Amino acid sequence: MKFECDMISDLLPLYKDEICSDTSKKIVEEHLAECPACRKIFNDMNDISIDEKIVKEKNEVIDSQAKFFKRKSAFAGSIIALIFTIPILVCFIVDLATGGGLGWFFIVLAAILTASALVVVPLMMKKNRMFTTMTAFTACVILLLAICCIYTGGNWFFVAASASLFGLTVLFAPFIVYRRPVNAYVKNQKGLAIMSAYTVTFAIMMACIGLFVGPAQFFPLAMAISAPLAALAWAIFAAVRYIRANAAVKTGVSILAAGIFSGILSHATAMAAVTTSNTGVTYYSDPWLPLMLSIGSAGLLLTGIGVLFGMIKGGKKNENK
Ligand SMILES: [Zn+2]
Repeated sequence: MKFECDMISDLLPLYKDEICSDTSKKIVEEHLAECPACRKIFNDMNDISIDEKIVKEKNEVIDSQAKFFKRKSAFAGSIIALIFTIPILVCFIVDLATGGGLGWFFIVLAAILTASALVVVPLMMKKNRMFTTMTAFTACVILLLAICCIYTGGNWFFVAASASLFGLTVLFAPFIVYRRPVNAYVKNQKGLAIMSAYTVTFAIMMACIGLFVGPAQFFPLAMAISAPLAALAWAIFAAVRYIRANAAVKTGVSILAAGIFSGILSHATAMAAVTTSNTGVTYYSDPWLPLMLSIGSAGLLLTGIGVLFGMIKGGKKNENK
């Protein structure tokens, strides 16, 4: 009987799904009629509520584990925040005791805040973790720069802050845009949002540098160089993102745009650097210009090849889908 039960239990799943032969079906039915143990196994198999119960229990375990770890990480966050306050407190007391003002205290405070933005914030935050951490870090870096600038009596704050803002935006924007809460606002215009963030922070940085070093000498040349490059970046982005055509067409448009803009850029730079002597001979006033233009063109060419490669790969991936 035991040997038979083993065989029947092997057959039961096939029998249940009605994919066994008629002979097997007959054998199983005859056995079920006279064996209560196998009948019970078969009835349990049909009882879907058992599956549901298992899923429910599994979810409850996962939920309670998640809550446990959230509590743990909030606790770890509080401990680290507490440890971080020690140097702040020490500096506060030492600064007061030596009577030299609170300069060092503020610098250490801002530096520790910057560190805790990266360490404590992700541990304490329950949602929007990535967004909050990166925003807090950026704000703290700018605060730190402001305090250092005030303390050292410098006038470089806006240059340093706008450059940091641009650099951190380049670094963080691709991560932030895919996560809450930003992803809800940008929906499927993520590329556009990233490009806009880059352009705005870049423009702010250039404005700050220009005002710092002197607008008259900075802006004409800076605009001549960066405006075509920004336009090129936007043209390639628009071609890749919005043209409804295959990869070869997009690549062609991108390389054409690169060609046009590198031509404009070379011409503008060459015009700026060319001088006509009183004998009527035109020569480059900057002997490095031909070399720089060659390096720039080589860079653009490499970018074009990279774009081409990426598109061929991307195209293949899409074909495989
Ligand atoms: Zn049996």
